[in-house]
Amino acid sequence: TNPVLQAALPLLSALEQQHFEAVFVGGCVRDDRIGRPITDVDIATSAKPEDVCRIFPRTIPTGLKHGTVTVLLDGTTYEVTTYRKESAYEAFRRPAEVEFITELTEDLRRRDFTINAMALRGDGKLIDPFGGLQDLQDGIIRCVGDADARFQEDALRMLRGIRFAAQFGESREPIFPRTWEAMLRRRDLLRHVAMERVGVELDKMMMGKRPDYAFDLLIHSGLLQRTKEQLTLPDPAWGDWRALIDSSRVNTGPLTLLSNPNERWAAFGLTRGMDEHHMESWFRALRFAGRRSAQICAVISFHRHWLASVEAAGASDDSRLIDRLWMDQVIRFGRETTQTWLNMVREFEGMNPWGELAERLQILLDQMPAASLKELAVNGNDLMRALRRSPGVWLHTCLQQLLRDAASAVVPNNKQSLLQHAETLVSEEPL
Ligand code: ATP
Ligand code: MG
Repeated sequence: TNPVLQAALPLLSALEQQHFEAVFVGGCVRDDRIGRPITDVDIATSAKPEDVCRIFPRTIPTGLKHGTVTVLLDGTTYEVTTYRKESAYEAFRRPAEVEFITELTEDLRRRDFTINAMALRGDGKLIDPFGGLQDLQDGIIRCVGDADARFQEDALRMLRGIRFAAQFGESREPIFPRTWEAMLRRRDLLRHVAMERVGVELDKMMMGKRPDYAFDLLIHSGLLQRTKEQLTLPDPAWGDWRALIDSSRVNTGPLTLLSNPNERWAAFGLTRGMDEHHMESWFRALRFAGRRSAQICAVISFHRHWLASVEAAGASDDSRLIDRLWMDQVIRFGRETTQTWLNMVREFEGMNPWGELAERLQILLDQMPAASLKELAVNGNDLMRALRRSPGVWLHTCLQQLLRDAASAVVPNNKQSLLQHAETLVSEEPL
């Protein structure tokens, strides 16, 4: 058995000892069946939250309203949720009322897809009333019960469906026909889903097994375009299933060559023809952290500048010109963005027809004595004191010139040389 589930067995035993039912449910059962690493273990039980809190020494009342208690055991957290059945839904997203029931099957019935509606008992018996295992083996994403109703209850499920289709889908039509049709019929409900949650789903798709395929499905289903703050692509790649099969066949699409999420997003933007402004509008809509958005968009912007410099270099034989252009570019974007871009094009063959040139940039980057004002051996105060000048525009200009000259080793990056150099700069030019 799976070591992650093994480690959680004492929780089931403890509940059973008190004559409650307790089982593993949802994603962990699904992942266990196909040998996928388990990220989080969820437990469903007939015990009420207060019983759970009584039985385990360390608990956090995470979502008592929903019957969820977080149990801590050996440094791991487990979500233990009382069997429940959800009745009415509010605004297509949240259960308005949760009524506790004592039936596992009812608890499984409220789950989104058959592959997520299986339970595993401590003795190893699988409880699978909706044929989830078969669907998992066939690679089919199918709603539990009436698909239209399920999407109406919670529109986020449509996005989850796409994510699971890209992750687990194996067939030509990875989404069960009636589920797919309901998705198309109900897609306008997506506007009720908070963009932040859409962002979380898209990020998970990006980090999944087949991100390219996931986004093709999103576009093909029209879901992407129907999010509250409509996300657009420069060239909406409308197609039919046949066109999608190609991207599904490439089992590990090109984006999966990249392990870093930000590199994947940047490569995604670039391969879909987005510039940094377009990509930034996505991240703003998806409520990505500003810093993260800036990091990814900088890589896209770097790429555009790189293309321009390669073109300029092609038009000239002057190798010092290209070094100069690159140096300025590294200073403008910083070492981190430059390195991220280099890592990206190195791993992502499809985007790097200039292998050797990129390696030259790497050498240049590694050999640059200074790439930012922080790395410069003098600062503004040093300059003002040495040159006996008060602050002004000259200071900025002088620092920038010192940085460029230190970066290209025209002057050594040490205090004495830089101050000397600064004197010449200010005396030669009216700064
Ligand atoms: P992963 O953790 O890989 O993203 P998961 O299926 O485990 O996928 P969770 O969000 O961890 O997703 O949810 C755990 C389980 O809770 C799911 O397997 C499913 O049974 C149920 N579930 C989660 N979200 C929904 C939803 N929106 N509608 C119905 N059931 C849901
Ligand atoms: Mg999970």
